[in-house]
Amino acid sequence: MADRLKRLIAAQGPICVAEYMALANAHYYATRDPLGRGGDFTTAPEISQMFGELVGLCLADAWDRAGRPEGATYVELGPGRGTLATDALRAMRAAGLEPPVEFVETSPVLRRAQAERIAGARWHDDPTTLPEGGPLLVVANEFFDALPARQLVATTDGWRERMVTAKEDRFVPKAGRAVPAGAIPGPLRAAPPGTILETSPSSSAVVRLLAHRVASQGGIVLIVDYGHERTSAGETLQAVQRHGFADPWRDPGERDLTVHVDFEALAAAAADEGARTIGPVPQGLWLERLGIGQRTAAIAAAAPARAAEIHEARERLTAPGEMGTLFKALALAAPGWPDPAGFE
Ligand code: SAH
Repeated sequence: MADRLKRLIAAQGPICVAEYMALANAHYYATRDPLGRGGDFTTAPEISQMFGELVGLCLADAWDRAGRPEGATYVELGPGRGTLATDALRAMRAAGLEPPVEFVETSPVLRRAQAERIAGARWHDDPTTLPEGGPLLVVANEFFDALPARQLVATTDGWRERMVTAKEDRFVPKAGRAVPAGAIPGPLRAAPPGTILETSPSSSAVVRLLAHRVASQGGIVLIVDYGHERTSAGETLQAVQRHGFADPWRDPGERDLTVHVDFEALAAAAADEGARTIGPVPQGLWLERLGIGQRTAAIAAAAPARAAEIHEARERLTAPGEMGTLFKALALAAPGWPDPAGFE
């Protein structure tokens, strides 16, 4: 991948950060299952079954309070190994909901893993082809952080698009073409040189589409990810490899590239398409309100030998120093649908 990128840059000049991230991550996810101990990172559903169960119950409960409309479909974006879907669908079934399953996933490796877990699922390259009939019950956990982000950088003569060039075994970001001032939020226009602003047009486009669909078809979208509540300056592009941080400008395609999710930007995109936005709320608070305490006690009582491990998983998912506050949940709801639980 690095050689391909170098040739691309040699042939056509520097590429923008979003293109660098898009090409690197397409290769990264297409060639491996990155999840779990032996991989590069671990996600909430891989830490404990409780995460997926509570997501499933949250969706089933909203559907129930919406009057149990016919034809609801479970949709997941970037389902990884299919663990979240397995746990969510089991919890939904217990609540009387057995929806068909539609996955948005580009990685052939992960599609195979998902097919082994979820019989009868159908796959999409992007959300445009999702069914247009009934309500959509959508979840995206650690999906948006992997979508390409642009970086804009303030210079002494205004804001510029950050571009990527190649230098020996490393890639180097540098200021490129000027960005119109209108593209920069007012308070940041006079930011000191070197200030970086990240925006993810791909994420906004996906959220717009989902919000539009949910507003017209009914349903709920749950977006869970790490990120900030308000649009703010600062570089968050990071590479993750073997459970640690790595240099994002080396070895593209061999390490996971992510940015923090800008929940304010996602909520604005959704509202613009007619969906109601609820939250974001910190993941820890959300899971506590959904009853992770009771669920921890119940599972630990049923499997006393694993009690310590189950309590530890709850801590990892909810404690402020772990995933409790950096991770947040944002909900989008169709007009006429209730607010999902845990956001009050
Ligand atoms: N939600 C899972 C996996 C998170 S990893 C979990 O919580 O464990 C990110 C997931 O998004 C992977 O399944 C990856 O293959 C998928 N993905 C990344 N970029 C994508 C894109 N542009 N389109 C569709 N899926 C993508």
